[in-house]
Amino acid sequence: MTNHKSSFYQVLTILFILSLYLPAYAGIAEKYLGDEGIENDPDVLFAENFEEGTVDEICKRWDTFKNKDGKVMAVSDDIPAGSAGSRSLQMTGTLGENAGGDLYTRFPSQDKAYLRFYTKFAADHAYEHHFVGFGGYNPPSAWPDPRAGTRPNGDDRFHVMIDPIGGHGKYPPPGIWSLYTYWPEMKISADGNYWGNCLNPVEPVIVTRDKWICVELMIKMNSAPDKADGELTLWIDGEQVAHFVKGVKRGLWSGMGFDLIEDEYDTKRWFELTDKFKDEPEKGRRCDVCYAMRLERTAQKAAEEGFDVFTTVMSLSPWKKADVLNRIGRQFGARFGVGFIEADFKKKDGFRKSIELGRELGLYRQDYCGCTYSLTAHERRKRGPGI
Ligand code: SF4
Repeated sequence: MTNHKSSFYQVLTILFILSLYLPAYAGIAEKYLGDEGIENDPDVLFAENFEEGTVDEICKRWDTFKNKDGKVMAVSDDIPAGSAGSRSLQMTGTLGENAGGDLYTRFPSQDKAYLRFYTKFAADHAYEHHFVGFGGYNPPSAWPDPRAGTRPNGDDRFHVMIDPIGGHGKYPPPGIWSLYTYWPEMKISADGNYWGNCLNPVEPVIVTRDKWICVELMIKMNSAPDKADGELTLWIDGEQVAHFVKGVKRGLWSGMGFDLIEDEYDTKRWFELTDKFKDEPEKGRRCDVCYAMRLERTAQKAAEEGFDVFTTVMSLSPWKKADVLNRIGRQFGARFGVGFIEADFKKKDGFRKSIELGRELGLYRQDYCGCTYSLTAHERRKRGPGI
C-alpha cells in the first residue's frame, strides 16, 4: 500500500425493492429526476442523500455506525453530475488510526431487492479491505454480523460485499469490481475456513479513481430451500457487468490461496503433434506426446515467473503413467532450469481422496480424460460390445 489514507465519497445511497406490479421498463428512479423525492416512493426501503444535518445527525438515521474519534466521516460538497443535492459523505480510512468507518441499517425482509449508490474514490486511494455490504440475517441482527470464515447454513444468512479487489497487485488500486459473497455452496479456503468467495465479472472491470461511479446491485433469493434459482446482478454506470445464476460462467476460482495462470488452449498444435498416434489407446504414445506438450509449457512458464519448482497433478489418475510423467518433467525441468517435483499422487489412497475432496468442494468431475479421442473411447466403453 503506497498511501496511508484512503478516501471515498458516497451520495444518494438508495435501497429499494422493485414492485412486482411495475412493467419492466419503468424503474423507480425514472419517476424521480435527480432522485428528488424518491425516498417517499412506497417501494423504496431506505434512502440517504446526506443532505441534512451534521455527521452525528446523519449517523443517527442509521441503526449503527462507526466513526472512530469522529475522524472518519465528513460532509463534502463534491457531488455527482445530475444530483439534485449539494452534499455527499466523505469517509477517510487512515492506517494505524482507524479501519475506516461504516453505516449499517436494516429493512423489512425481502425476496428481491436492489441497491444503488454513487461513489467516488480519491485520486490517491489505496487498496482496501471491504467496501459496501448487502444481505440478510435470520434472525435479524442489530449490527453487521457476517460471521467471517464460516459458511452459511442456508437458513441463517446471505451476504455480499461489493468490493474492489487488487488481485495481489495485478490491478491498479483500488482494484477491480468483485462480489465477495457468503452462501451455502461457497468453497472452502486453503486454511480450512470459509472466507468470502469472490464472484467476479468474466471480463475484469477496473474501479476508476477520481470519478463518480454509479453502482447497482440486485439480489434475488432462491424461491424455496431446494431451488437454486436465486440471482445476483451488478451494474456499473448503468451497464450490466455481472449476472450470476445457477450454472453461469464466472471468473476463475482461486480462493484456495493460489493464483491461477491459464495458458492458451492451443488445439491446432495439439492435433498436429498427436495426429500420427490418434488411434493409440489411452496410456499409449499419444498420451506421452500430450504430457510432453503440457509439461514443456508449464516448465517454461515456471522459469519465466522465477518459480523454484513445478509439478503436475496428472499422476492422480489411474489412467496416467507416473513414471513417464516424471521422466518428461525431469527433462523439461533440466532444459528450463527449474526443479521438477516427482510424484505419483494416486498412491496412498490419493485417487479416492481426490474424489472425496472434489465432492466436498462441489467441483465438476469429468468422466473422460479430455481429448476427443478419449471421449470417443469412453462412449464406446459405455455402449459396451456390439455395433
Ligand atoms: S487428453 Fe488424455 S487421453 Fe487424450 S492424449 Fe492427452 S493424456 Fe491422452
